[in-house]
Amino acid sequence: MIAFCFCSVYEKLTDGETYGRRKPGIGSGTTEPVTRDVATLSMMIDLRRVDDREHLLLASYAMHSRDTAGRMRPELAHGYRGPYARDRDRVLHSSAFRRLSGKMQVFTGEMGEYHRTRLTHTLEVASVARTIARTLRLNEDLTETLALLHDIGHPPYGHCGEDVLAEVLGPWGGFSHNQFAITIVTELEQRYTDFPGLNLTMEVLSGQDTRAHKAAATVGRSALLEVQIVDLADSITYDAHDVDDALQMGMIEFGELAKLNIIARTSEQVQRRYGNLPLNRRRQALVHELVDLQIGDLLSASTELLHCIEGQSSDEIRGAGLRLGHSTEVAQERAELEAYLFESVYRHPRLVAIREAARSRLGELLEGLIERPDRLPLRFRTRGTEVGTPRSVGDYLAGMTDRFCDAQHLYFTTHPVGPLTDW
Ligand code: MG
Repeated sequence: MIAFCFCSVYEKLTDGETYGRRKPGIGSGTTEPVTRDVATLSMMIDLRRVDDREHLLLASYAMHSRDTAGRMRPELAHGYRGPYARDRDRVLHSSAFRRLSGKMQVFTGEMGEYHRTRLTHTLEVASVARTIARTLRLNEDLTETLALLHDIGHPPYGHCGEDVLAEVLGPWGGFSHNQFAITIVTELEQRYTDFPGLNLTMEVLSGQDTRAHKAAATVGRSALLEVQIVDLADSITYDAHDVDDALQMGMIEFGELAKLNIIARTSEQVQRRYGNLPLNRRRQALVHELVDLQIGDLLSASTELLHCIEGQSSDEIRGAGLRLGHSTEVAQERAELEAYLFESVYRHPRLVAIREAARSRLGELLEGLIERPDRLPLRFRTRGTEVGTPRSVGDYLAGMTDRFCDAQHLYFTTHPVGPLTDW
């Protein structure tokens, strides 16, 4: 696991800190930094202030911004954004986030125009996670940041790209997209002159680190509830949209799917509500019901759990190992659905053929560049002297979009000399 230096308290509220507040009598759009007067502020509630807003809206067990452990490199508090809102904006404006639009989720561009990309999947996860966080009175800014970040480390060609990288890089520590997300936001993103990476808060980094060590996260001290919510929102989202995409592409049939308990239940609900619908409308209504059912179940199970711990802090409930999840019934039904999707969709012959071709291109480029590091872009040749050539080649390839990887593979295999292009 990565070791963080919990040394910064700059974004905690301290006496004399400057804050952006509107001056009385000046137009609503005008702000200017003023010195905070602790005695005055203790008597007033100003919902523009992050801590006031959170005090009113968040539960005791949410991660409050005032309790942040800060950043590796301390920064002064922002005038009107809390630390997690700043993190969200940093992730959203990163080049790695933009590249998610060119990375496949499950299906590739060769298979149609309807299905999700890694970017739209991420936005759907953020939407579901925020809804859950708001309902449970958790920190929405932190939840949204974690959701936008959660898949940022995915290599090209989805899970097949990850398999190739993990296999070839095995002797040098393997590859994990969750771990690579941390490498991106701490080392590879270049947005600030003073330091590499995005200098995100410790809560965001350790939340992503939890994803990289999921097995360890199931025992003992639990992850922040905001971290748990994003993990649950991720699987709720992909279960539903993979059903939608696979049905739309004709890879699976309603009849087969309806043999699953969770689909039978949601189909009955659709039938009761709308009667007989045309196939497309039926598919859309089914997916809405599927998302609603899972979120509703999670909220109901969580509300019951959280009701008993009202008044406890985020740190206290983590120490007690509190873990949110679905009811037993829905958890079993979801497991059945996921097993079906694994066999019938993720192993569908159309997908396997495309995946095999992608696997071979990526493998060829990966092994080729490890042998010929002189063909790396300058930044990754330099990085190779710090982290070793195989790791640097892996970082270079893992950051690519599907199309960019295709283009670099073509150049590498048709031009015997010359560096490839940086992303
Ligand atoms: Mg995901």
